[in-house]
Amino acid sequence: MKEPRKRIVPLFIPFLGCRSQCVFCDQRMLTGTGNAAPTAEDIRTILEKALALQPAGQKVEAAFYGGSFTALPLRQQKELLAPAQHFLATGKVTGIRLSTRPDAIEEEAVRWLKTQGVSCVELGAQSLCNSVLNAAKRGYGFSCVEKAVAVLRHAGLTVGVQLMPGLPGETRLLWQKTLQRLWKLAPDFIRLYPTVVLAGTELAGSYASGVYKPLSLAEAVERTAWALAGCQQREIGVIRMGLQDSEELHSAKLLAGPYHPAFGELVWSFLIRQQVLYGLEQLSSSACRLFYHPQDASKVRGQKNENLRQWQEAGFGEVSLQAKASLCPGSLELETVQGRRRVKLGALGAFYC
Ligand code: SF4
Repeated sequence: MKEPRKRIVPLFIPFLGCRSQCVFCDQRMLTGTGNAAPTAEDIRTILEKALALQPAGQKVEAAFYGGSFTALPLRQQKELLAPAQHFLATGKVTGIRLSTRPDAIEEEAVRWLKTQGVSCVELGAQSLCNSVLNAAKRGYGFSCVEKAVAVLRHAGLTVGVQLMPGLPGETRLLWQKTLQRLWKLAPDFIRLYPTVVLAGTELAGSYASGVYKPLSLAEAVERTAWALAGCQQREIGVIRMGLQDSEELHSAKLLAGPYHPAFGELVWSFLIRQQVLYGLEQLSSSACRLFYHPQDASKVRGQKNENLRQWQEAGFGEVSLQAKASLCPGSLELETVQGRRRVKLGALGAFYC
């Protein structure tokens, strides 16, 4: 089931509850919060400010990110939740979500979280292959993720899964294996963060010594597109592709890897490019009209008209673009000029999986 649109107010708890530092992680930089762990008062202030700017009627969720919430002592969980619960009781906040490690999910604790107003848990799984999880020193295997998803589902919570294409030891085949397992888990939504190398992490050392080679931007876009195509088919929401743009990322801390400020747009463009090529080949046609929703115009053209250029290079020189407001965003139609045949491209994601 796709997640309905809502505003998420992030409440960052950098490294809180983490049992060790994973090889790729520097949450203090990613969340832009320096070393500080927030107090309950900080959380109340952040929520108050965010809610003051909120348009009436929009759903708002308070979200604890950047650490392993359920691994914190119960007293600290209660303290952090209290301000969010206050706004939940007044109806200003419509839900509380949190991210955590799969090995910090226990049945009883999850039941308690539900009674505290938590409605959604995002699992930082990162990979679903044991060899990749071991190389990233995550300290759990796929069966642990499977169990965590089952426990959360059983408790009636919305379940998200975070994955990181390009972790050490991940091949294209192992990424496909991760996706095959993801389809079986069938979470409500996923986030995709291609692995980048941050200064001060263990991965930075492996990168400096030549042991770890990050994915190129093109490879990261392609692997993420496989995931996006599969999720589209299965109605699994994809709520983030690529790291959030931040001042810290622009500083010297980002050493290498497939970061791009418009990463998600690159992935959509790639997917559309491949779908149109596939559709034209199926229809044995070199000319067509491509209909798309107006809000998808830049994705359809690609950055600097990359898609138009690549269609031309592949021998499909006459792709004419036409916006059509009656289409759903993300849905395309292809019509050949000769035969007036029309094909919906949304289902062609099967090509990738
Ligand atoms: S990846 Fe998650 S569990 Fe690992 S150190 Fe970072 S916040 Fe903690």
